[in-house]
Amino acid sequence: MHVNLSILENGQFLPLVEDFYTIQGEGFHAGKAAYFIRLGGCDVGCFWCDAKESWNQHLYPPVPVEDIVARAVSHPAKSIVITGGEPLLYPLEPLCNLLHQNGLEIFLETSGAYPLSGNFDWICLSPKKQHPPVGNIYQKASELKVIIHELSDLEWAEENRHKVSSRCLLYLQPEWSRSAQIIPDLVDFVKKSPIWNISLQTHKYMQIP
Ligand code: SF4
Repeated sequence: MHVNLSILENGQFLPLVEDFYTIQGEGFHAGKAAYFIRLGGCDVGCFWCDAKESWNQHLYPPVPVEDIVARAVSHPAKSIVITGGEPLLYPLEPLCNLLHQNGLEIFLETSGAYPLSGNFDWICLSPKKQHPPVGNIYQKASELKVIIHELSDLEWAEENRHKVSSRCLLYLQPEWSRSAQIIPDLVDFVKKSPIWNISLQTHKYMQIP
C-alpha cells in the first residue's frame, strides 16, 4: 500500500502504527499505567532501534484523530504516551487538543529531530547524534533520556545536558542489546556524576509491550 501523505499535513489524520494500554517502562514515568499511541515515520535511523517497523509511514493508513482518541478514552488510563517513529513529523495540535479536552495528560517521546508541535504535560527528549534536535525543544524538555550503546555515548549525553533547562531530569538508558555489558559502567558513572539517573527498559523485563 502507498498512502498519499498530503492528508497528514493538517494533523487531523495520523499514520497510526499501533495503540495499546500498558505500563510505561522507562524514564521518569516508569511504572505508570499509560495508553500508547505509536505514529509511523522516522528517518533518524538508529541502528539499534526497537521500533523499526514504524519507520515507513507509507505502510500505515491515516486514521482520524477522533478515532484515535475514542479508542484511548475507552481505557482507564489517564496518561497518554505519544511515541513513534518520530511523532513530530506531524502537526500534533489536533490530537493533543482532543486528548486534553477528554481530561487526559499527554507525554511525548521524541528525538526532537523535527519542530515541536502540540501541547504536552511532559516531554521526554531523546536526542540522536545523527539527527540532532532542532528549535527550542531543549528548553521545553521535562526529561532528557540519552541511550547509551557504547561508553563514548556518555560524551553526547554530557553535551546535551548543557542544553536543557535546570528543571529537566537527566537519564542515561542502556541500549537493550548491550545492557549487560554497559550497566556496570553506567553505575560507576552515575555514582561519580549523580546529576544523572539510570533508566532501564523495565517493560522488557516484564515482557509487556
Ligand atoms: S529516533 Fe526513535 S524511532 Fe527513530 S530510529 Fe531512533 S529509536 Fe527508532
